[in-house]
This record gives sequence, structure tokens and C-alpha cells, in this order.
Amino acid sequence: MRRKRVLVTGGAGFLGSNLCDRLIADGNDVICVDNLFTGSKDNIRHLLGNPYFEFIRHDVIQPIFVECDQIYNLACPASPLWYQKDPIYTTKTSIYGAFNTLGLAKRTGARILQTSTSEIYGDPECNPQPESYRGCVNTIGPRSCYDEGKRVAETLFFDYHRQHNVDIKVMRIFNTYGPRMDIGDGRVVSNFIVQALKGEDITIYGDGSQTRSFCYVDDLIEGMVRLMNSRDGFTGPVNIGNPGEFTIKELAEIVIELTGSESKLVYRDLPVDDPTQRRPDITLAKKELNWEPTVHLKKGLVSTIAYFRELL
Ligand code: NAD
Ligand code: UDP
Repeated sequence: MRRKRVLVTGGAGFLGSNLCDRLIADGNDVICVDNLFTGSKDNIRHLLGNPYFEFIRHDVIQPIFVECDQIYNLACPASPLWYQKDPIYTTKTSIYGAFNTLGLAKRTGARILQTSTSEIYGDPECNPQPESYRGCVNTIGPRSCYDEGKRVAETLFFDYHRQHNVDIKVMRIFNTYGPRMDIGDGRVVSNFIVQALKGEDITIYGDGSQTRSFCYVDDLIEGMVRLMNSRDGFTGPVNIGNPGEFTIKELAEIVIELTGSESKLVYRDLPVDDPTQRRPDITLAKKELNWEPTVHLKKGLVSTIAYFRELL
């Protein structure tokens, strides 16, 4: 049997590079497409000499012509700091990126997986959030470029499925952390760890009572690969995340405990439209993918802290 040719857009990013590692280990022929907007060659350096790994520097806003059997579409900045730097470009990446990868799937007959997000639920009015919840999203705020871009991408996936019979899988990812997050990424887990290791103040936005549910990267990648290889006809959307829910203040305290840092907690303004709570209902993932996370927050943080300690 020939190796599967698998295209990963955003493959030099945090999740993408961890996915490329997994796909190579599973014996696939991997094509990584990335414009290095937030990703880095350092994340894939160890794969560059492998004959079954190719890197193409390319912007998904432009069409791409390759032959492949599966497509994972991850290209899009995911950190609020980065997706708000050039919001128009973020929306373009989500929407044109969806058009171009779906067009490729239509031509090649490849199965295609979209990495959607819990952000499509906005500031949710129910907790936990099941896939049936339609969300509470501001269309005109600073987070809208990302939230609405991802919502339209979901719409495009389902329209290509209905209209052209494209074989789609849609995954709604909740906050995920782990090795290969960029030092300057700006998301909460990497910020707190880097601040704690450097002995700098830990910046809590708002009063720290807002909650998030943190999934370790290895669990997330397992869920992603299971979804890609799930039964014909199962499209999702499906939530993938860890239902353990923590306040941001609790997260800061755990990071201080695990690093042994003397850093102090300081409070900064809460960003506009920052969701107050987030926790996945993973009933569907359990049923369809036989998936649930296995790595507890403290254990995942220990590995992530070790990664950043080495880097610093
Ligand atoms: P990341 O920023 O580390 O990775 C994104 C990658 O996409 C980077 O390598 C970047 O250079 C690349 N990219 C951005 N715009 C591009 C473009 N126009 N053309 C080509 N490449 C481009 O973020 P991540 O955490 O690895 O997220 C990966 C995907 O998962 C994103 O689509 C994100 O929305 C989604 N997601 C992630 C999380 C999470 O907690 N990590 C949560 C929800 C959804
Ligand atoms: N946050 C914080 N300090 C930081 C970075 C983030 O308190 O240095 C908060 C942020 O306001 C949000 C939560 O942590 O309530 C998660 O933020 P992140 O940027 O990781 O992702 P989000 O879930 O908001 O997309």
C-alpha cells in the first residue's frame, strides 16, 4: 500500500507541527504548507531532512495545487494578540483559506478537516457548551475577525459538503497548550509560564474569575487524527477539549506552584468581549470517536514548563 499523502496547512505552528510529527510517525507522506506568520521553521527543523516530509512556504489566501488524500486545515493565527494585529488579514485567511482548501478537496477527492474553535460560541450563555449551542458572538468587536471568520469557514465546509459532496470533518477546538507554543504567542498558558520562569509579574486580565478549560496538545492531536479517520458520513462539528474548568486566577496559582516562582500576580484591564466561561461538552466525541482527554492540567503544565525552561 502506498503512503497516504497528507497536506497540513499551518503545519509549522504549535498544533500543526505536533500534528506533522504524529502523521510522520504513523507512516504518512506529509506536505506542510505555512507562510510562517506565527509559525516557525524551528518547529519543523527536525523533519526537514525526512524524504516523507516537504515544507512549502505559501499563503493559503492563494490557491494551492498539490495532489493529496487528506487535508488538515490549520492555517490561521489562533492567539488574540496575533489575530488582532491585522484583523482583515485574519478574516481573509479563514475564509479564502477555506475556499482554497475546499476547492483542492473537491478537485482531488481528498477528505478535509477544518480546525474550528470554541470561539464560534462567543461569550456563551450556557456551560458546558454542546455542539447544538449556536453561540453569542459580537459581529463588530475586536475578536470578530477570528470568531466570524471561523463561523463562515464552517458554513463553507457544510455548503461544499451539501453542494459538491466534499468529504468534510469539522472540529471545534477548546484552549489547547503544550510544547511548541511560541514564547511571544500571547495566550495565557505560555504568558504565565514565561513570566513565572523569568520572575516577572504574572498579568491577569480582569479579576481572573473568567474560566477556561485547558487541553494538553497530545490529547488534542489524538482527537484530531481520530476525527479525520472517523466513519464515513460523520461530519461533526465535534468539540475536542478538556472539560476540566479553571479560573484564570487558579491557573496563575498553579503555574507559580509548579515553577516555584516568586512572581507576583498583577491585574490588568479585561480585553473587550473576553468570554466569561468556556467548557466543552464532549459527549459526542466520546460516542463517535471513543475519545476523551487523559492528561490532567498539572501534568501537562509540568511538560510545558520543562519545554519553556529549556528554551529560555
Ligand atoms: P499557531 O498560530 O501556532 O499556528 C497557526 C499556523 O498557521 C502558523 O504556523 C502560521 O504561520 C500559519 N498561518 C497563519 N496564517 C496563514 C496563511 N494565511 N497562510 C499559511 N499559513 C498561515 O496556532 P495553533 O494554536 O497551532 O492553531 C492552529 C489552528 O487551530 C488554527 O486554525 C486555530 O484557529 C485552531 N485552534 C487552536 C486552538 C488552540 O487552543 N491552540 C483553539 C481553537 C482553534
Ligand atoms: N489572559 C490573562 N493574562 C494573559 C493572557 C490572557 O489573564 O497574559 C486571559 C484572557 O483575558 C482570557 C484567558 O486568559 O480570559 C485566555 O486567554 P487566551 O488569550 O489564552 O485565549 P482565549 O481563550 O481568550 O482565546
